[in-house]
Amino acid sequence: MSHDHHHASQNLKTAFWLNFLFSIAEAVVGILTNSNAVLSDALHDFGDSLSIAFAWFMQKLSGKTRSDHFSYGYRRFSLLAAFFNTAILSAGMVYVFFRAIPRLANPEPVHVEGMAILGVITILINYIAYRRVHKGKSYNEKSISWHLLEDILGGVLLLVVSLVMMFYPLYILDSLLSIVFATFILYNVLNLLIRISKIFLQSIPENVKLEDLEKEMISTSYVKSVHDMHVWSLDGEYHILTAHVVIDPNISLQNALETKCSIKQKIHEAGIDHATIEIEREGEDCDFIHC
Ligand SMILES: [Zn+2]
Ligand SMILES: [Zn+2]
Ligand SMILES: [Zn+2]
Repeated sequence: MSHDHHHASQNLKTAFWLNFLFSIAEAVVGILTNSNAVLSDALHDFGDSLSIAFAWFMQKLSGKTRSDHFSYGYRRFSLLAAFFNTAILSAGMVYVFFRAIPRLANPEPVHVEGMAILGVITILINYIAYRRVHKGKSYNEKSISWHLLEDILGGVLLLVVSLVMMFYPLYILDSLLSIVFATFILYNVLNLLIRISKIFLQSIPENVKLEDLEKEMISTSYVKSVHDMHVWSLDGEYHILTAHVVIDPNISLQNALETKCSIKQKIHEAGIDHATIEIEREGEDCDFIHC
C-alpha cells in the first residue's frame, strides 16, 4: 500500500467516525427534545456517514495489488466510490433546489430555537473532518470533502438564519441561502463528476500532454518515430502509457534496449507510472500505424 493510499483511508476513517458519532448524538438529542429539525439532521448525517463508510471501504480495497480477476489491481475501486458519492451529492443539491424554489414565493416560518447551537456544532464537527480530507490527492477524498463542505455550509445556514430571525422575521432568507449554497456546491461537484467520468472514459490524464511526451520520445537517440500511443489513468493518480517506438534498424540489440530504457526514464519523469513500449525497426510492418 502506498503512502498516499494509507493516508487517504486514515483520513476517511476519521471523517466517518466524526460523522457517525455526531449523527448518533443528534438522534439522542432529537428524541430527548422532541425536535424534528434535529432528528432530520441526524438522518442526513447518518446518510453522510454511510457515504463516507463506502468511500473508506473502497479506499482500503483500492490498495490491493493485482489479482487473477483484476490485472491492474484495485485502484479504480476508489474512483468508483468517488463517482457514486459525487453523483449522490449532485442529486441531493438538485433536490435542495426543488424544495427551496417554491418556498421563495411562499416563505414558511422557520423554527429557530436551539438551531444556532446545532449550527455551531455542525460547523465544528464537519470542519475537523474536512481538514483531514480536503488536501487528499485521491478523487475519493475530494468527493467526500465537498460533501463535508456542504455540511459546513448547512451549519452556516442554520447559524445565520437563526441569528437573523431573532431580530427580523425574514423567512425568505432560509430558502435564499439554501439556493446560493446549493448552486456553489453543485457547480463544483458537477465539475468533479465530469473529471471522474473522463478517467473512466480513458481520456488523457489532466496533467499529461501527449505532444510533449511524443517530442520527448522522438528526441531520444536512434528513435525515428512514435505511433499508437495511448495514455490513460487508473484513478487520476496512477497513469499508464503504451506506445510503439520505431528505431534505426542498424543499431545493435544492446543499443535498442538502452534506447527503450532511456525512453522509459523520460516517460517516468513526465509522471507516467506504468509504461509498455513496443520497439519496432524502421520498415517493419505494423497494423497500428494509423490508430
Ligand atoms: Zn451532508
Ligand atoms: Zn515489464
Ligand atoms: Zn506499431
